[in-house]
Amino acid sequence: MKNENKVNRILNLLISEYPDAGTMLVFNTRFELLVAVILSAQSTDSQVNRVTAELFKKYRKPEDFADLNLAELEGLIKGVGLHKSKAKNIKAMSELLINKHGGQIPANLEGLMKLPGVGRKTANVMLAVGFDLPGLGVDTHVHRVSKRLGLATGKTADKTEKELKALIPRELWSKSHHLFIWHGRRVCKARKPLCAKCVLEELCQKNLER
Ligand code: SF4
Repeated sequence: MKNENKVNRILNLLISEYPDAGTMLVFNTRFELLVAVILSAQSTDSQVNRVTAELFKKYRKPEDFADLNLAELEGLIKGVGLHKSKAKNIKAMSELLINKHGGQIPANLEGLMKLPGVGRKTANVMLAVGFDLPGLGVDTHVHRVSKRLGLATGKTADKTEKELKALIPRELWSKSHHLFIWHGRRVCKARKPLCAKCVLEELCQKNLER
């Protein structure tokens, strides 16, 4: 089967399986989303939501975070992993937004990736979820699932992103990101994939070595 046909069948099956697939992060504004996505690295969405539920009651704008002292911010986000480096990045990112972008978040990959704490994955998520623009962020779930399925062969997330973007229509990039994450969390788990329960089993190459 041609890879284009295969990816269409895979996405259709996943859409039927997870019609509500989307971000689990809770936010009210693009800026809050950006803070939440930075906090989510190596932390679960529920950990992040617990932290931001309190954090965003008082701090909501770049100015609020720029004015915070670093130790105070570290204390406010210590419920997530790597909280010291994340605090440093969130403060520096807020300052840069104020000083270089008039407090607005850039709506392009290059501009986003110049912000402290923002790599390719976060930038793609911001485009897709924050701006409703084409973006396909590759996290550990997207990378693992697409390699097992045989849709990507790259060793790195960046290579996988290129391969997936070449294969998947632009209008489905954002949806695919969420579908692969949802499938990776629920069925195609890192240690023990539940292949016998998987709707994609017949289409999967089961490239299980990591
Ligand atoms: S068949 Fe197994 S390896 Fe393939 S996508 Fe499903 S759970 Fe993952």
